[in-house]
Amino acid sequence: MTDVTEHGLRNADVLALQMDALYKGAPAAVLSIFGAAFGSIAYWSPENRTMLIVWLACISTVALFHLATALLRHWGLPKSWSPVAWSHLVKGIYIAAGLSWGIGGAILLQHGDEHQALVICCLAMGAVSVTFPVIVYTPAYCLFQTPIFLSFTYGLAISNLEYGMLLSVAAALLSMVLLIIAYSMGGQMVLALRLSQENRLLVEQLAERGMALEAVNRDLTVQTLTDPLTGLANRRQLMGFMRRATGRCALLIVDVDHFKSYNDTFGHGDGDICLVLVAEALQRSVQEANDLVARQGGEEFAIVLTDLGEDRAFDVAELIRSNVQALYPTNPRKVHRQITVSIGFAYRDAELHKTTADLMAEADAALYEAKNSGRNRVSMLTDRRNLATG
Ligand code: GH3
Ligand code: MG
Ligand code: MG
Repeated sequence: MTDVTEHGLRNADVLALQMDALYKGAPAAVLSIFGAAFGSIAYWSPENRTMLIVWLACISTVALFHLATALLRHWGLPKSWSPVAWSHLVKGIYIAAGLSWGIGGAILLQHGDEHQALVICCLAMGAVSVTFPVIVYTPAYCLFQTPIFLSFTYGLAISNLEYGMLLSVAAALLSMVLLIIAYSMGGQMVLALRLSQENRLLVEQLAERGMALEAVNRDLTVQTLTDPLTGLANRRQLMGFMRRATGRCALLIVDVDHFKSYNDTFGHGDGDICLVLVAEALQRSVQEANDLVARQGGEEFAIVLTDLGEDRAFDVAELIRSNVQALYPTNPRKVHRQITVSIGFAYRDAELHKTTADLMAEADAALYEAKNSGRNRVSMLTDRRNLATG
């Protein structure tokens, strides 16, 4: 027998499920005490008394022991017991119950008249049928039923009853039929138990995979919207943000001055470090959560400031310019020479109905103007402001 079923459930797990299902029927053990007490009343006489008390004691002991083990299992004691250990215990209990009913019943059959024998036969059949749920673990059911029917077959055959021999054959046949039914139904029930457990495991696995997939999707979404070097928003996120920004807003296109020569002089690696520091300076200058700082590409950045008046937005642009200018004096180990940026500034008032493309073109043109008028400055297309500080 392999340890794993075809769907990945271990045989020990299947056995544990069988034990769980079997123990659900454990309270029915009380019925066997009542049954035996009822049979004893039918047989009660001074000469039968000792025999009946012994019989009753045997059946009650087994039933109570069964209930005690059910409680132990319910409370999770003892924890170290494997399903195999439980299956041995269960087999022991059921063969003890089968022997108590079988041997006791056979002895009673020989002592009783026809009515009493009928009572005992009915009780034994009742015991067998009440125990029918045990077929979920066929070995226990067979160990219970076989001694009862063997003893009854024997007891009826040697009894003084009128149709004793006939009843004996009937008991033997009934036993065989019940064993065959138990065997096939038991197999079906185990299959059903296994399938339901495997379904549960599959559903859990599916939920886990779904969550992992969601996490991967979230990562991918972040990756498609983020610039890998600086961690800022990328151009795709910028365009989406601009489309959604319907109210007044300022667009700043920020371009590092003479960056090609910086790269050529200090190498691409140090150029990258410089770009990261510029990105941090931009982010520091823009505190509002509903503003966006993005890297458009290369050494060009874009900043969208929402819900600021034009003057306040222009002040932020100026702050950005001066913060970048301060990078070299404050980070001489990472930035190797004075870095400046030129900024093209464009503004859309809520009433002006400029499109995103208009705003972009205006900021680009303003940047061009800033570059042409000497760099390190913020420019806007109306000649109202053109602050040169370089
Ligand atoms: P200008 O003042 O006119 O903007 O001059 P510039 O040299 O900055 O402009 P230009 O467009 O000629 O050069 C941009 C340089 O930026 C070219 C390239 O070496 C550098 N660059 C673009 N992307 C990256 C990058 O991801 N990392 C680094 N280290 N350099 C980059
Ligand atoms: Mg440049
Ligand atoms: Mg450029």
